[in-house]
Amino acid sequence: MTRVAIVGVAGRMGRTLVSAVNQDETATLAGGIVEPGSSLAGADIGELAGTGKSGVAAVDSLEAIKDDFDVLIDFTAPKVTLANLAFCAEHGKAIVIGTTGMSDDELEALDGYRDRVPMVFAPNMSVGVNLTLKLLETAARALGDEGYDIEVIEAHHRHKVDAPSGTAIKMGEVVADALGRTLKEHGVFERVGQCGPRSDTEIGFATVRAGDIVGEHTVMFATEGERIEITHKASSRMTFAKGAVRAARWVSSQKAGRFDMQDVLGLARG
Ligand code: NAD
Repeated sequence: MTRVAIVGVAGRMGRTLVSAVNQDETATLAGGIVEPGSSLAGADIGELAGTGKSGVAAVDSLEAIKDDFDVLIDFTAPKVTLANLAFCAEHGKAIVIGTTGMSDDELEALDGYRDRVPMVFAPNMSVGVNLTLKLLETAARALGDEGYDIEVIEAHHRHKVDAPSGTAIKMGEVVADALGRTLKEHGVFERVGQCGPRSDTEIGFATVRAGDIVGEHTVMFATEGERIEITHKASSRMTFAKGAVRAARWVSSQKAGRFDMQDVLGLARG
């Protein structure tokens, strides 16, 4: 049994994760952490998630449950995640990180833990998205240098705080890598006013924020006469939560290192 603790357990993903751990016969709910000072500390995390009494009370510090769990699942915010990584390094815990929107400095800080913490870090934990990344690699290799313009379009619910989504950036990176380009040089994240025609090699991003959209991503390869679109649509957060629990089971038996869902699913190259 993998003993799992969930940070941000009262959040949208946190509550879905409680349900996903409950449904998994090889993982057990060992703790749930809410924001320091939250009035939800002490509440039953199953009741918080709407899945019925679990017998596990939410706490507002990791210290309080440090002997109870093996793997932390963290879908919160960059600064919170980095503090939790330091805790995992100090106490010999593994971590699954779903948090998106990290700056370059924050990503560098995260990477600094790769020799001390077994971690899975992925902007999208769904099996379907991770398969889509493989399809994109193949499509980019076949089309990218043959006059096809590449654009990434994503849509999410109105509460999402970062843009473009971590998944959209990951999709752009996979395509750029396959073509020997970089997003730093070729990514175009804004077009407004007299911005001129697109260049042949740019990879454009467009963002939609509306209503309750769980997450939709399309990568378009367009040329004169045809357009290929590879699309993934998530209709429930459960797809991310199930992937995260699968990652938690997998990472619990790994040595320190930074992994992603391609590793967890056995899709990694080489
Ligand atoms: P949310 O705002 O609903 O939940 C975040 C929760 O974290 C909140 O309940 C908040 O109270 C809590 N929190 C903040 N500081 C905390 C602290 N110090 N200790 C404990 N809890 C704390 O957001 P969400 O929609 O659940 O998304 C969270 C993150 O997960 C975002 O970065 C989002 O982009 C990402 N996400 C990733 C995936 C994926 O598959 N990787 C999927 C969906 C969302």
